[in-house]
Amino acid sequence: MVELDNLDIKILTHLQSNSRKSFQEIAKNCLTSVPTVKSRVDRLLELGIIRKFTIDMDNSKLGIAEAILLINAKPLAISRIAEELLRLEEVKELYVTSDSDAAIVSRVAGDMQRLLSIQDRINLADVNNIRIIAIKNASRKEATIPLASTSITLNCAYCDRKVTGDAVRKKFDDRDYFFCCNTCLGEFEKKYIKLLAKA
Ligand SMILES: [Zn+2]
Repeated sequence: MVELDNLDIKILTHLQSNSRKSFQEIAKNCLTSVPTVKSRVDRLLELGIIRKFTIDMDNSKLGIAEAILLINAKPLAISRIAEELLRLEEVKELYVTSDSDAAIVSRVAGDMQRLLSIQDRINLADVNNIRIIAIKNASRKEATIPLASTSITLNCAYCDRKVTGDAVRKKFDDRDYFFCCNTCLGEFEKKYIKLLAKA
């Protein structure tokens, strides 16, 4: 344990609120001299208590960004990296692909500072390459599954008729249900909510 005195704490508080605050200003506020502040800051840096002087960016000016994160890694490390990524708040979707060139494809959202810091927050061992590509425009579609193959048959979870054309997919309780149309989905939803209310 490192012992910090009142002066150390005061200096840290000043730097936390604004890491560009001058030593003069801090010294004046703490009723001490500039060399004292400087030597304390040097000591705090040496002790690793101050790891780095960071900047606080104005996110509203930067905007919220969406990006695609591509990670190429050794096959053995893929599931470990995927697990680590899924724990991050910025990771919204993640796919492990069968293409060894881009083993993990993920949609991430957040301000640019946070997106860029993702690589500092995962263990990069066995990672060959990591890329973040900003998304310019995103278009999202309804979660329909095009069924081209006649070998796949799906029955509507509500009316039980065979689904022809595109199925409507919806998750209830972590399970995927398929419907022939939005009306059936709506009816099922009503029934499901009633069931939940009874339970
Ligand atoms: Zn139906």
